[in-house]
Amino acid sequence: MLSGWREAKARRPWRMSAKLLIITSVVTVIGFSAICVNVLLDMRRGEEALARQTLENLATSIDADISRNFDIYDLSLKAVVNNMLLPELATVSRPVRQLILFDHATTARHFGAVQVFDADGRLTIDASTLDPEPQNRADEEYFRVHRDNPNVGLFISHPMLFRGAFSIVLSRRISDSDGGFMGVVAGSIRYTYFHELFERLSLDPDDTITVLKRDRTIMMRRPFDLDIIGKNLGTQQKWKPDNLKAGGSYAGKGPVDVTPRLYVRSSGSGPLFVVAGKPLSAVFSLWQREALRIGAVVLMLSLFVLGSAIVLAREIGRRADAESKLEEMATTDALTGLRNRRKFDQVIDMEWRRAMRQKSQVALLMIDADHFKAYNDTFGHQAGDQVLVGIAICISDSVRRAGDCAARYGGEEFAVLLPNTSATDAFKIAETIRAKVLGWSDGGAGSTVSCGVASLAPMAGMDWTVLVAAADKALYAAKAGGRNQSVVASLPALSLVA
Ligand code: GH3
Ligand code: MG
Ligand code: MG
Repeated sequence: MLSGWREAKARRPWRMSAKLLIITSVVTVIGFSAICVNVLLDMRRGEEALARQTLENLATSIDADISRNFDIYDLSLKAVVNNMLLPELATVSRPVRQLILFDHATTARHFGAVQVFDADGRLTIDASTLDPEPQNRADEEYFRVHRDNPNVGLFISHPMLFRGAFSIVLSRRISDSDGGFMGVVAGSIRYTYFHELFERLSLDPDDTITVLKRDRTIMMRRPFDLDIIGKNLGTQQKWKPDNLKAGGSYAGKGPVDVTPRLYVRSSGSGPLFVVAGKPLSAVFSLWQREALRIGAVVLMLSLFVLGSAIVLAREIGRRADAESKLEEMATTDALTGLRNRRKFDQVIDMEWRRAMRQKSQVALLMIDADHFKAYNDTFGHQAGDQVLVGIAICISDSVRRAGDCAARYGGEEFAVLLPNTSATDAFKIAETIRAKVLGWSDGGAGSTVSCGVASLAPMAGMDWTVLVAAADKALYAAKAGGRNQSVVASLPALSLVA
């Protein structure tokens, strides 16, 4: 029926606003979530930067402490090397020689006594005793390194046992004026130094401090593990040198254990460097809590917004349905289910103007029940109503084209509007209806119809009442002609058009 698309059109604004509401809510939720994610990522970056700065400060201050102590000890070694070259040394007594050599030697708690070895590796002088026990260190790395290479400078050994204590040996070569090898001066820094240094710091159990040589040998690590000390990370596949450049940082699994940490390397330039590490879970623990809290609030808000939108959209849908039902009721004849007079007037007005624009024909059938008063009087009003319903069914069965409009025009009169239909075709439809009513009622009294048919192409200035009047006139002609028949309007001007 013609009314179908028009109703859909009327309902569309409601449907549109429901869709718009859902889309707006979804876009709002997505936009809001995106902003939140952005803010959270910014916060995360901030936390990481703060942790990196703290770790760098820690690593650099430890580095500075270690460098200062190594420098002080190295100064002592240098003093011994210089004093060993004094020619007078051979002529003085042992105690005086001890005084000359080790006058400036540092004797802090963690520093081992300085020892001097001759060119064959024999211990000749010991800062701790005037009468050292004979021993030979020719096989030790720190001795061989200096013997074989005059330009090593300060050599820092791998961690080792030195004079009964776990230590790092610092050594320098003694060369004569021609650069010839005269022996080695060696001293040690005990691990108690590192232990004490790290104990002073307030660190979490999972925080790590690693002291490495430039060749990436682990010299010391907190938490302390003897198995790790002395390992060279340069040879480890996983731990690439690029992972940790001077002053740089690295987030992920380290070479020693599986805990992912943020590792930051000190920016010092001493012979050793320090890497401070903090578990990523600790770095981001505050952030994680905050992110969870904000995430939960945003999720709840989003669900609330989306839920409200869905409820509102449903409500809008219900209202749209109710509105279309109301409209249907307002435009439908209660008894027959056909369009009512009000609707028919709207449709004919619209179709008339359309036909005027498109220069097409509009046909109208006016259908009236014959001798209906007599039928009512004989069988009663209710039986009459049933006949009207039957006629309506016959009409709507015969008028099936989209755009056609069948209406109850008033009382026992019906009107059928047929856009784009010639008088001949309209007459055929009228005859179909008439035959259907006749067939259905079996020719009983009061149950035949007469049809007036008119079809014309509207011209400028012409009103649709002309069409109604013409069809009406044809209907009268049909009645006058004996009823139960269809008559096409025979106005010369109109039939010319039709
Ligand atoms: P004609 O063949 O000339 O049309 O004769 P008629 O009796 O049908 O003509 P008339 O217009 O005089 O009578 C119309 C009758 O239709 C009057 C009324 O009793 C009846 N009628 C109008 N509306 C209804 C209705 O809604 N229900 C019923 N049962 N009868 C109706
Ligand atoms: Mg009548
Ligand atoms: Mg009648």
